[in-house]
Amino acid sequence: MLTARRVLALGAHPDDVEIQAGGTIAAWSRDGVHVEIGCFTAGEKGSHDPAADPAEVARVRRAEAEAAARVLGATAVHFLGGVDGELEATMALRLAVARLVRAVRPDVVLGHDPWRRWLLHPDHRAAGLLTVDGVVAARDPLYAPELAAEGLPAHRPHTILLFGTDAPDEVVDVEAVMDAKLAAIRAHASQVGDPEIDRHPGGRNTWDDLERRVRTWNAAIGDGFGLGPAEAFHVLDTRGR
Ligand SMILES: [Zn+2]
Repeated sequence: MLTARRVLALGAHPDDVEIQAGGTIAAWSRDGVHVEIGCFTAGEKGSHDPAADPAEVARVRRAEAEAAARVLGATAVHFLGGVDGELEATMALRLAVARLVRAVRPDVVLGHDPWRRWLLHPDHRAAGLLTVDGVVAARDPLYAPELAAEGLPAHRPHTILLFGTDAPDEVVDVEAVMDAKLAAIRAHASQVGDPEIDRHPGGRNTWDDLERRVRTWNAAIGDGFGLGPAEAFHVLDTRGR
């Protein structure tokens, strides 16, 4: 497992980091690694009720994200203010990532792989690009001069780990922390059990169904590498151009 002392994990919506990298984060936390989580949006459109109030959904999901972070041993969750379903790789959000990277000063940053083929959700693509672009803006000392003026000098994480990748080259065995990962996913209580979804086979209809699918998926990743259940990442060395 990649050595880290401080980690920042960035997801488009609350629960993305937990599902994609919750085991890796739990394992790091148990080893004493300092972990913080960033959510580009509050997931305020994450309801199947057409009459739901997005502000109320956001309130619930922020609290769930904080509970999930506690389960994983992460010390803070930051919300970057993007709009759920409309996330775009803007300069304002790139700066927000750079500000967070310069404030948290992680040596490893995790985010969505924006270059995975057939990646459907536009928020996940935008979040991945913003993660990579924000790390470069945090790294280069003449980029984002307004941040230096705020007392946030340049900082270079040594590695970016991209999750949801189709080109894995770092695989983490999460067998020992699978219970923590599943508990963190369950902390997103509003996201499962919607009777509307029950009619769609394969949907996130019950906790048991979601847990089975996460276990099957992580087992399949590990199988390919002779490991137990595992999470996979594509590694970017940030010294590259
Ligand atoms: Zn998502």
